[in-house]
Amino acid sequence: MTIQGRVTLKKGKEYSIERFHPWIFSGAIQKTEGDLQDGCWVEVQNCKGTILGFGHFQNGSITIRMLSFGKQRPVQDFWHKKIEQALSLRNNSNLPSVVTNSFRLIHGEGDGLPGLIIDYYDGAAVIQAHSVGMHLDRMLISIALQETLSDNLKTVYYKSQSTLPGKMRDVRQDEYLFGMGVVPHVISEYGNKFYIDWEEGQKTGFFLDQRENRKLLGDFSRGKKVLNTFCYTGGFSVYALNAHAEVVHSVDSSEKAISLTRKNIELNGFNENINKCFVEDTFDFLKDKQDQYDVIILDPPAFAKHRDARHQAVKGYQRLNAEAMSAIKAGGVIFTFSCSQVVDRQLFYDTIVSSAIQAGRQIKVLHHLSQPADHPVSIFHPEGEYLKGLVLYVE
Ligand code: SAH
Repeated sequence: MTIQGRVTLKKGKEYSIERFHPWIFSGAIQKTEGDLQDGCWVEVQNCKGTILGFGHFQNGSITIRMLSFGKQRPVQDFWHKKIEQALSLRNNSNLPSVVTNSFRLIHGEGDGLPGLIIDYYDGAAVIQAHSVGMHLDRMLISIALQETLSDNLKTVYYKSQSTLPGKMRDVRQDEYLFGMGVVPHVISEYGNKFYIDWEEGQKTGFFLDQRENRKLLGDFSRGKKVLNTFCYTGGFSVYALNAHAEVVHSVDSSEKAISLTRKNIELNGFNENINKCFVEDTFDFLKDKQDQYDVIILDPPAFAKHRDARHQAVKGYQRLNAEAMSAIKAGGVIFTFSCSQVVDRQLFYDTIVSSAIQAGRQIKVLHHLSQPADHPVSIFHPEGEYLKGLVLYVE
């Protein structure tokens, strides 16, 4: 590992790093030494010259993303060791299993690798870089994946066009780093089948973070009329159908998403009789759907990506949930989610209380939901927790 330079922190700014928080903000830096280009590796020391660790440098608000803590210089097997550790955590959480062959292999800070996401789809790894450093190291990461996964890896696709900083997006970045994958690719999640298209799909192609919540939805679906809003590729719809729902309606404003939902439903052997898909805005769709559904899923995209958008986002969640609570049949169940990192668990809960007051119905909380074990959160980096949800019983 070539270390390009050194960064010295201001007095008192080392505490969070000593506690394994992986971000160093520009204001914490006293001086830099060496030719520091975006994406290079740097050594980080406190004001007395004690080495605190090593990380990727990038001009911006978060100037350093720590990749290792302590004096030990990262050496050649760094990526292999990190990926091996991450894989072992997944294996210990029963991933992959006989019924589930896809999972998130690297979840950024949660796996000690800020700026890096890797999703594994039964033989295909999709890398998403959120920092210049991960972009520059992408070949080393791909090679380490091959070493770690050996025969269980057929292809590596690099997909970072939309996640890299500003000007890097002007150049086409997406490409195969190993093998040539064929899309769509079929995966299994608790025996439910899905087509994955990492080349054209949103994010890495699929939302793996809802696996456990979809499974729980199955328990509530037998014989029920289910409405899956913001359905994307129909994850919740397929689980509901396989769990013997009477009818499933899927809604998404994107035509492309609905076409993927249709294909996934077909892949699982269901036809248009018990499943209908609508290209429509969820807010419009819900307006005239009084007493039609027993189960409603609300899994919108992040309404707030930044702190300044939080107020608007809360209003969005409030209105959406109030409408679903008003529309659902008596004795119905709502699965409601927020994946906005800036709307924390308490704020989301309070927002749902406000929706319940507006809807004027008796509501009970049955489950508190979150992200699964393959999306771990470092206890020192609570910012890594983003997905929260509630299962609500509406009397
Ligand atoms: N529940 C999905 C993931 C949802 S992603 C899963 O389990 O895989 C969010 C989806 O919401 C995207 O597909 C996007 O096209 C859709 N969307 C965004 N705004 C919308 C709106 N106002 N009405 C309906 N769908 C919307």
